[in-house]
Amino acid sequence: MSNENITTIHEFDFNLICEFFLNTERQGPGSPGITLKALSFIDNLTDTSLIADVGCGTGGQTMVLAGHAPGHITGFDLFPAFIDRFNYNAGKLGLQDRVKGIVRSMDDLPFQNEELDLIWCEGAIYNIGFERGLNEWRKFLKAGGYIAVSEGSWFTEKRPAEIENYCMPHFPEMDTISNKIARIQEAGYVPVATFILPETCWTEHYFTPLIKAQEMFLDKYAGNKIAGEFVEFQRYDAEIYRKYKEFYGYVFYIAKKI
Ligand code: SAM
Repeated sequence: MSNENITTIHEFDFNLICEFFLNTERQGPGSPGITLKALSFIDNLTDTSLIADVGCGTGGQTMVLAGHAPGHITGFDLFPAFIDRFNYNAGKLGLQDRVKGIVRSMDDLPFQNEELDLIWCEGAIYNIGFERGLNEWRKFLKAGGYIAVSEGSWFTEKRPAEIENYCMPHFPEMDTISNKIARIQEAGYVPVATFILPETCWTEHYFTPLIKAQEMFLDKYAGNKIAGEFVEFQRYDAEIYRKYKEFYGYVFYIAKKI
């Protein structure tokens, strides 16, 4: 399939996107094991710690974090339906006393300076911009506090035009791992750990669960052009990943405020 004229996820109706992703545990590549691997580099948490999970979606990674990290976690997402599901999931797991979801934009987080011990953000910092997020959120962290973000990154200096043209219009800050680490350092953090998410975070934990959600969605919206195009876009996204996975993927960046 050619990528010319393909509609992108950014152009679809947000309510439709929300409804679709309510049927998935995660809204981006990742896995419980990888959340825990990133968490293993963070050593400052206690029962009184304050943690923000920014762009939390329905909270797949938040509930994993909460099961393995002490402290209070607040999840932030723009979409009320995601936050409703987040709070429902927290309640189901008996975590409601220390895990709470709030509808709020990541460019307007409700914290005082130096209040947070940890900022978590899986696959969502691109919404505010990688550099802007690192810089704006830094003030909310205590000295010695951590930030852990996963972000789409290039694995090579050069890559085929098709993948470059597919990603760059929507992820203009997509960059090599070494350049991303340089941005982290410039923003006033010490880079602590960086690792590439394994392929299974895309295939087994993201694309495969999407197939079931796509079938349900197409059943419900049979004949709906927008719904059909949305699913077509997702299938194309999975095809692009399979074709170009040596050149790009998600990378976890863990860094400490000094
Ligand atoms: N962290 C989740 C995960 O890994 O499954 C969700 C990742 S999903 C790719 C990106 C999330 O960012 C979505 O839930 C979306 O609603 C949220 N988002 C987009 N713009 C936002 C904003 N301005 N403020 C807060 N959340 C936002």
